[in-house]
Amino acid sequence: MSMNSVTEEIIRGTFRGEEPLEIPVITFRGESDGPEFTVMSGMHAGEYSGILAAQRLINHLRTTGISGTVRVIPVVSTRAFMARNMQLSPVDQREVHFYGPGNADNSYTEFQIDTLYKLLVTSNYVIDMHSGEFAQALHSWIPVPMQGSDDFQRRTLSLALGYPVEHIELRRERESVPALVNHLADDGVANIWAEIGKNGLPNESHIDAHYQGLIAALQTAGNLAGEPQRPSHTFIEGSRRQINADVSGVWHPAVKEGDIVEPGQPLGNITDYFGTVLEEYFAEERALVLYYWTSPAIDHLRRPHGYDWHSGLVSLLTIDEASDTARLDA
Ligand SMILES: [Zn+2]
Repeated sequence: MSMNSVTEEIIRGTFRGEEPLEIPVITFRGESDGPEFTVMSGMHAGEYSGILAAQRLINHLRTTGISGTVRVIPVVSTRAFMARNMQLSPVDQREVHFYGPGNADNSYTEFQIDTLYKLLVTSNYVIDMHSGEFAQALHSWIPVPMQGSDDFQRRTLSLALGYPVEHIELRRERESVPALVNHLADDGVANIWAEIGKNGLPNESHIDAHYQGLIAALQTAGNLAGEPQRPSHTFIEGSRRQINADVSGVWHPAVKEGDIVEPGQPLGNITDYFGTVLEEYFAEERALVLYYWTSPAIDHLRRPHGYDWHSGLVSLLTIDEASDTARLDA
């Protein structure tokens, strides 16, 4: 087996001369030509299954010849990772996923994204691994942004087809897609983000599902030899509905991730400290529970930079199963 050349680096920068940034990058270059493929994890630094899957991929590529270039960024948000911080940047309390490149002077998070973007934008393919934060019980699924030409959509979707998860979500509304994902698609980088794992737990089956999906995607792109696995999937499309608290208190969820809820079904309630119910929440439409917040602590007024993460209770996808899956499999 031919061997790859390997480069390990820590990309360093400083925002406004005071806040340091470090992004670890390992690059494998094969002896034969092929696409450029970047895999990243740890944007949300408590989502450990993806980070550990990235390390497993690095170990594999140290001993397995590839075609083209594979770059792995195992922890995008190293400041948050080392601080054991959840979801938001510990420097400026922003949500990294919702920012794009081009405003590096504006905030630490935008500086971080701008630096990261330069590492991503030359790629043909990008997979961004997410795994459910400490406070987040997540149903494993793969959202696929369906944008651009038919061929571009087909290449984007092909990245998702090897993941051993039940649901692949086709997402066509740009407003429902994280800013970074839209920027990459606009620049011709076929990209998906994988949502596998829950509650920040480094669970072996979740790590393995991420890893299997990555191997299949690298085989699909032609970086790795071999026939990619193609487990069966249910393709879903719908609208995202996040149920947010309108009172502060103690949250008692009544659903689990992966549940299908029917109109009128209780989603949970919020009590005061003594257990008296302040507010009850119900499903309004038939929907899949993508995730719910397992943290009982709800402060509905805490919205850093307008972001509603701290008042979120349940994240739903209204169900409208894609009818012609045969076309998508083609
Ligand atoms: Zn995430």
